[in-house]
Amino acid sequence: MLSYRHAYHAGNHADMLKHFVLCLTLAYFNRKDKPYWYIDTHSGAGLYDLNGSEAQKIGEYRQGWQRLQQAENLPAELAAFRGRLKNILPADHLYCGSPWLAQAMTRDNDKLRLFELHPADFQHLQNNMAEAGLKRRGTVSQSDGWQSLTALLPPPTRRAVVLIDPPYEEKQDYRRTADALKNALKRFAQGCYLIWYPCLSREESHTLPDTLKKLSPQNYLHAELHVRSPRADGFGMHGSGMFIANPPYLLAEQLQQNLPSLTGLLAQDGGARFVLDVQTA
Ligand code: SAM
Repeated sequence: MLSYRHAYHAGNHADMLKHFVLCLTLAYFNRKDKPYWYIDTHSGAGLYDLNGSEAQKIGEYRQGWQRLQQAENLPAELAAFRGRLKNILPADHLYCGSPWLAQAMTRDNDKLRLFELHPADFQHLQNNMAEAGLKRRGTVSQSDGWQSLTALLPPPTRRAVVLIDPPYEEKQDYRRTADALKNALKRFAQGCYLIWYPCLSREESHTLPDTLKKLSPQNYLHAELHVRSPRADGFGMHGSGMFIANPPYLLAEQLQQNLPSLTGLLAQDGGARFVLDVQTA
């Protein structure tokens, strides 16, 4: 079942957390000359038109990217993140997806492996990546991100950033995510795995972080950003989380310094808060 389309949600509060963490991670990987692989198991379309009918239907970007664009007095890393996005977006009415951010931040020797199953989003992704001139160092495949990840590990460079960002519209995605991390760590224990998940009232969304922590108990970072209190009827996404196995060394400190501002900026009611929980060997 492929009903999820990220175009409806592009630039929302969850993209702010996810893309900020991705940006900090890639910047950290770029500190060393040694090339690395970027693997995106659930890529989406790569670029989104915020004036398009999908983004305009609910206008979620107004409570995400638009707020960040208009913010004043940002801490250093958030200001740098906003500046970077502004630099890499081809036009003001566009917002980037994870593959676009990654192709812009990776270097000539780094490799990208992008997976997207939805036929229309795959086509957009392919066109967008061709536009970005990715051909020499990246592949875009219309294949299953879960299976493809296992087949790629370990990467020849023994350095990799893996983003796992499924739709979670099917409750099996929670189990698939945990299985994917388990299998990936078995094949490539040193990989840096970034996992996004929604904060919902449903049971699976509460238990996923603890399940993931048990898979990488010595070396993880877990962050959640709640933009509002959960609704009494249990409906909707009140925040989102990132679980990172083998996080970059600087990430905990960077998030400690920036999450208070980001949470204040994205808050929708008095229930806004963040969680930062780190374990390093
Ligand atoms: N990572 C993107 C970003 O940050 O811009 C957003 C990705 S979106 C949340 C999830 C995407 O996964 C959707 O475009 C959906 O079509 C795709 N998808 C769903 N199941 C998939 C699968 N098994 N393999 C690859 N892609 C899949």
